[in-house]
Amino acid sequence: MKITIAKTAGFCMGVRRAVEMALDAANKQKQPVYTYGPLIHNPQVLSILEEKGITILENIPEKGVGTVLIRAHGVPPSAEKSLVQAGYKVVNATCPRVIKVQTIIARHAKLGYASIIIGDDDHPEVTGLLGYAGDNGYVADSLEKLEALQPFEKAIIVAQTTQNIRFYKVVKQWAAQKYPHYKVFETICDSTEKRQSEAHQIAESVDAVVVVGGYNSGNTKRLAEIVRDSGKPSFHIEDDAGLDNRALESVRNIGITAGASTPNWIIKKVYRRIEILPHKNRHIWLRIFFSLQRILITTNLYVALGAACLSYASVRLLELEYHVSYTLIAFFYILSMHTFNNLTEVNSARYNEPDRASFYHRFRIPMIIMAVISSFGGIGTALNLGVIPFLVLLAMSILGFLYSYRLVPSSYLGSRLQIIRNIPGSKTVLIALAWGIVMSAAPAVTAHGKVNLNTILVSLWISGMVFVRTALFDILDIQGDRIVGKETIPIYIGEQKTRLLLEYILLFLFIVLFPATVFNIISPLGYVFGIYPIYMFAILKACEKQSMLPGVRIGFLIESGFFLAGIITWVWSFFYF
Ligand code: SF4
Repeated sequence: MKITIAKTAGFCMGVRRAVEMALDAANKQKQPVYTYGPLIHNPQVLSILEEKGITILENIPEKGVGTVLIRAHGVPPSAEKSLVQAGYKVVNATCPRVIKVQTIIARHAKLGYASIIIGDDDHPEVTGLLGYAGDNGYVADSLEKLEALQPFEKAIIVAQTTQNIRFYKVVKQWAAQKYPHYKVFETICDSTEKRQSEAHQIAESVDAVVVVGGYNSGNTKRLAEIVRDSGKPSFHIEDDAGLDNRALESVRNIGITAGASTPNWIIKKVYRRIEILPHKNRHIWLRIFFSLQRILITTNLYVALGAACLSYASVRLLELEYHVSYTLIAFFYILSMHTFNNLTEVNSARYNEPDRASFYHRFRIPMIIMAVISSFGGIGTALNLGVIPFLVLLAMSILGFLYSYRLVPSSYLGSRLQIIRNIPGSKTVLIALAWGIVMSAAPAVTAHGKVNLNTILVSLWISGMVFVRTALFDILDIQGDRIVGKETIPIYIGEQKTRLLLEYILLFLFIVLFPATVFNIISPLGYVFGIYPIYMFAILKACEKQSMLPGVRIGFLIESGFFLAGIITWVWSFFYF
């Protein structure tokens, strides 16, 4: 089975902005936070906002306290005025592209133009736009309704931003023929345009398309219409629970697209559910491979094995005598820390890693036992190696456990800084440093009893690569993390800047290998080890272009970077020694 996800699927700029503004307001404000009407047309997002204490204000009372967000679709100016008069602090989350249409209408209304809005009568965006037209605004969603309108001396035609592009073309032709003096504006949002034309293209190339989004979301309904018009089966669902497994089991090529108000964690869930469908045409060995891949990723065994590979590479870069205990320590430490983290982060995993969340919920006790055994396994192996590795691993393990717990009473530090996890970006930085210390610094100090220049360089190099890997996961999980209030690096500095930062880090890590090898600071392995940052750069770019799908495979490919590091080292050692 082949699954194709539309690159345009999911939150558009305006919806993402509105949801982020609502979550930021809920995380920062002590007073109640409301949205005036539903923020967007997606029941799952609305129930999460409700969980965060953001409630919907349906009617404006005479007096009110707190913050009110104006939704992405906008509201009539009179409503905004009433909210301010009632005493609310108003945060305008209207999409900038909707504001542009509001401005066109308001400007022309002042000059005496009638405003004809091509859109759905009862859509909130249209209601808001009508408010800017004064008493000279009209709505039409068909040529019949347009024909029924009186002729105007001066009129403008605008479209609801999510209007059907083909229908608006027909309207433009109608206006050009019948009322050439009407001013027609291109107001359909390019995000809608791209989404609709991609839905059309996908429908042409697959056997069936799953359209994900709220049943009352206008733009999602239009995507389903486009697919149906192309003659392909179209399954409009709100989330993975609505999937018709029986109907999809025999489909070879499935397309997935989603409306502008569909969050990416719901698209992920749908993708994963389709990915594991017991497809009739799939070979048995492929099914076994995917099941194994899923188990290894979910239980953290894959990342722990990857850590073992990276530890081997690190020892070779440092030109230390190889000792299997180094590999075992890395394996056990990463397995225990990642498993403990997963056990304490089930809440955010509900959005980012729904499979993992339900797995840890179901197998909580066996996973706790595995984490404890691997902790003791790591510490025991380190003790067997010597006092220094034992102390290092003990310190790193304690730091890992304390990461999520309150360290100092609230009277000493602000509430944000009592828990290390609350420091923005701390997870990504600390994980990277912990890997660098356990994989490189600990073996080097064990072997030489001191820290050399190469120890610092290799530790930081390993930390840099782990930083890139973890920050890449942070980018992929940005929506879920924002919901649970985590302040990861992409949330703090933005997705684009994080990508750029990771690219610079990878470039630096690639370049630095050459002088470090030429000046004998690290072993000649440095000449070929640049393949590893190149691989991670390719993954980063593929994620940026959305050419990789959000299932288990993306996690598998990112973690496979560690295995690549191990393979490069093994091949190099084979020829070098
Ligand atoms: S579809 Fe376009 S206009 Fe509408 S909210 Fe999204 S970005 Fe804004």
